[in-house]
Amino acid sequence: ATMPPLLSAIALAGRNGVLVKSALVMERLADTSLVAFDKTGTLTTGSPRLAGVHAAAGVDTTELLRLAAGAEDPSEHPLAVAVLTAAQERGLPVPPAGDFDSTPGHGVTALIEGRRVAVGRPSLLDQLPDHVAAETRHVVTHVEGAGHTAVVVVVDGRPWGVLALADHIRSRAAATVEALTALTGATPVLLTGDNLGAARHLAAEAGIADTYAGLLPADKVDRVRHVQARGQRVLLVGDGVNDAPALATAELGVAMGRQGSDLALQTADAVLVRDDLSALPAMIALSRRARRVVK
Ligand code: ADP
Ligand code: MG
Repeated sequence: ATMPPLLSAIALAGRNGVLVKSALVMERLADTSLVAFDKTGTLTTGSPRLAGVHAAAGVDTTELLRLAAGAEDPSEHPLAVAVLTAAQERGLPVPPAGDFDSTPGHGVTALIEGRRVAVGRPSLLDQLPDHVAAETRHVVTHVEGAGHTAVVVVVDGRPWGVLALADHIRSRAAATVEALTALTGATPVLLTGDNLGAARHLAAEAGIADTYAGLLPADKVDRVRHVQARGQRVLLVGDGVNDAPALATAELGVAMGRQGSDLALQTADAVLVRDDLSALPAMIALSRRARRVVK
């Protein structure tokens, strides 16, 4: 029995760990002219480790980590998982979170033991008076300069300190970037909500030259639209809730299967079920072959 080429391509993709949601998606993969990657959880393993705890003057380091872990507990963000894991490894009982709220690309906030705890990107400090935030800003600069992700903890409006998180590049990331560059003729770009220091550090390891850092979810959408306006057909790979709007905007959105949040999986046109980046160039090549047969 012979299946139509696009359907056999989908079946083959499935056997290689890629869930392609429709024949149209399988067909359009061939048109990809630029690939854009999210960083945390996509180009990196998304299992960052706590590399340092910097408590503000007068704040206990253990107490800082304990409250931060409590606020992060309900979050599915890779950074949240890292903070929680670190607390558990140190045998700290994680306090229950009340009135939890999370803002994609920003961080989380919760009521812990009657205190308002906020954990997230350093711009959290912008809501505080300069003289209150100054010392913590200094620590953030230091942490980011080392290529780490700085997460700020604010308790009842007081900066309690900075958590330094270190992530690792996925083993196939650099080879995938190279293969995609050869296939599309364009070097993939990096779109991240993380700081420029951590972004450049990772981009250098992956062989990416074009890096856009500090992006909020809506900024990722703008970036995709910007290159689309120049005629690029964008394939975006991401994992987070923060990537969902940009995944929907790109010609093709691809989500990481294991690392991916539910929203990213629903929004994407295809899913890398095993989080294996090297399946991407294989998929584009497969789509091109299937289309040659169709025509
Ligand atoms: P990326 O685009 O690299 O996947 P995100 O957009 O998910 O990164 O996050 C951007 C930044 O927002 C993080 O570097 C961190 O500073 C902050 N952030 C987002 N969610 C959380 C969270 N749950 N805990 C701590 N920080 C967070
Ligand atoms: Mg991510």
